Amino acid sequence: AKAQGRNNFQCFTSSMNERVSERLLLESGLRDALKHEEFELYYQPQYDFGRNRLSGCEALIRWNSPQGLVMPDRFIPLAEETGLIIPIGAWVLEQACRQGEIWNRELVEPISIAVNVSAVQFRPALVEEVKGALESTGFDPRQLVLEVTESVLMSDVDSSVRLLEQLRELGIRIALDDFGTGYASLAYLKRFVLDKLKIDRTFIMGIPEDKDDVAITSSIIDIARHLNIMTVAEGVETEAHCEFLRTAGCNIAQGYYFDRPLPAEQFGRRLT
Ligand code: C2E
Ligand code: CA
Ligand code: CA
Ligand code: CA
Repeated sequence: AKAQGRNNFQCFTSSMNERVSERLLLESGLRDALKHEEFELYYQPQYDFGRNRLSGCEALIRWNSPQGLVMPDRFIPLAEETGLIIPIGAWVLEQACRQGEIWNRELVEPISIAVNVSAVQFRPALVEEVKGALESTGFDPRQLVLEVTESVLMSDVDSSVRLLEQLRELGIRIALDDFGTGYASLAYLKRFVLDKLKIDRTFIMGIPEDKDDVAITSSIIDIARHLNIMTVAEGVETEAHCEFLRTAGCNIAQGYYFDRPLPAEQFGRRLT
């Protein structure tokens, strides 16, 4: 039993060491990634039920690291911890605006681009970063949407209210991401001026079988409509999801049923 205990301990430390060194590797790779232009934005189409067409997209970051493609869930948390999310986030904003300006130049009906903003980025300096990205690219502010989560707004409600006001004064729009998964969702709708609500994928998943998910989703859509806020459903994967959402009065749908996130070139082909 004693020997086994020692083995377990060795197992534990070696897997811990592995995790630590994996993290260090990831971190040093992340530091060089911007310099080496290893990040890429993919764009996931969003479909407007009312106008029956593609009306925008969400920009989602990918890392083409020397070891292969890395998804954001694997490096965004580390980028947040190390502060690297600040320069990475500024790059995302600028890149999304530059690409959006190129697409919209050719389009009669311009598309919107939604960019994710992490809690670390959500500070007064963000206003200048957004302004800078808009000015250097010439992207129409009305087509830029910033996606923030409830937890981003929660840390300091008063300064969040002020920051959202300053951002909206630039002419851009704000979407509340992953709606329904936080603590004080409904109180937030009263406190913050929002343009869009993104209904979290976990509610859409259960439609139409799960009666609770059905009730929650239609209630969110109704509340948002009364507050004059647009609804975007995320994680729309099936025809049944789509039919339910259309009937319930949801404005916009995004998910694998329509398209996966696409590299810029492929997304561009969807526009023509
Ligand atoms: P999110 O903002 O909730 O983005 C939606 C995620 O759901 C994306 O994962 C997208 O690919 C995925 N998705 C879209 N449609 C479906 C579907 O029908 N079914 C399922 N199962 N999944 C779907 P992705 O691209 O891996 O991004 C994960 C998260 O990483 C994002 O969650 C967001 O929080 C974060 N992220 C991505 N790009 C950025 C960025 O540029 N900046 C920051 N700060 N965070 C980012
Ligand atoms: Ca998002
Ligand atoms: Ca989301
Ligand atoms: Ca999510």
